Amino acid sequence: MDKNSKSVPQCQVCSSEKLESVLFLGYLPPVNKLHSINKKPAEQPSFPAELLYCQNCFLVQIGLIVNKEILFPSNYPYTSSTTKILRDNFADLYSECSKLVNISSNDLIVDIGSNDGNLLNNFKNNHRVLGITPEKIGNIAIKKGIPTIIDYFTNEVVSKIIDKNGKAKIITATNVFAHIDDVNLAIELILKMLSDKGVFVSESHYLLPLIKSLQYDTIYHEHMRYYSLHSLKYLFDKHEFEIFNIKEIPSHGGSIRVYCAKKGEYKVRDVVKSQLNKEASFVVGTESFKNFEKKVVKSKLKLLNILYKIKNEDQSICAIGAPSRGSTLINYVGIDNGIIDFVCEIKGSHKIGKFLPGTIIPIIDEDKMLKSQTDYALLLSWHISDELVPRLRQKGFKGKFIIPLPDPKIIEY
Ligand SMILES: [Zn+2]
Repeated sequence: MDKNSKSVPQCQVCSSEKLESVLFLGYLPPVNKLHSINKKPAEQPSFPAELLYCQNCFLVQIGLIVNKEILFPSNYPYTSSTTKILRDNFADLYSECSKLVNISSNDLIVDIGSNDGNLLNNFKNNHRVLGITPEKIGNIAIKKGIPTIIDYFTNEVVSKIIDKNGKAKIITATNVFAHIDDVNLAIELILKMLSDKGVFVSESHYLLPLIKSLQYDTIYHEHMRYYSLHSLKYLFDKHEFEIFNIKEIPSHGGSIRVYCAKKGEYKVRDVVKSQLNKEASFVVGTESFKNFEKKVVKSKLKLLNILYKIKNEDQSICAIGAPSRGSTLINYVGIDNGIIDFVCEIKGSHKIGKFLPGTIIPIIDEDKMLKSQTDYALLLSWHISDELVPRLRQKGFKGKFIIPLPDPKIIEY
């Protein structure tokens, strides 16, 4: 085992040792480490992907924290994640914030993990804004006129921000709580930086749709934690923070937006309680996870059965897209280069010319596949198949589509 990877003997939020194993997806390779096709064979590490459920605070977490240098190699190209869904989502976040919170033009909005500034872009014309991101991509935000600190979110950085800019009226952190090392420390720093009537808005990949639509393929080591509203409530309660509003949003196949403030500052909306009730039977206790595990296994077998029938008739299959989640699906199900000829990415993707992690399935330019055509295309970004199917049809793909999850099936339209 890599010496800088560490196992999780106690819960990362509440320190309880009552962690129960609820799903094991085998040993998964890091999703950002892609070997080039023409290079000599090289070792490829893989790490146990076991989900642990905390019986005390309801958090679901992966049982091994893999060394960051392996997960995010220095040559890994950080790319802006400005898809249409995300852009629309951040515009929605801004309009919702403007209704819920009284923000003046002098108020400061801080975004943690600000990337290329795509969230703050919505606030910057009417308010003071500041981004924090450790990645060089922050320079793109600076060029767009969004002041950005390119550094990690530490106590020192927070003290400097308060000295220079004062406290923040709104702090946002989207898709951050799953990755950040010490989530309790992060919340203490957020509290320190927040003004009295200030509001903290977080967006996290949400456990409820993950369970309901069987999105086990979104489990990989880069995501250390999987939150339900129950586990977020526990986490915020612990720091005297109060969740007063929530919204389910479509980002990353299903996320939850949560509004928090210091206790008693804002009226808690009914939707908080009704969402807690709605998810209770899924996230409290391990019964539903046993059911989830059974369904995951059955979906794997059903997909293999579909693939067997196709290969038995000597027909060809490619996969469309090489997203991180595709690596989990391919490796867990055990799909190799004998089953799938290649994976297609859109022209310009840095993944072209590499192998899919854990396999020697080559990643090629989609246009090449369209010239030769395959009988079937397996959609690895199946959660956006409504977008993908018409796009591929329009580009001239004539084969059938395989949707791998939640219920594996072939579609012909
Ligand atoms: Zn816990």
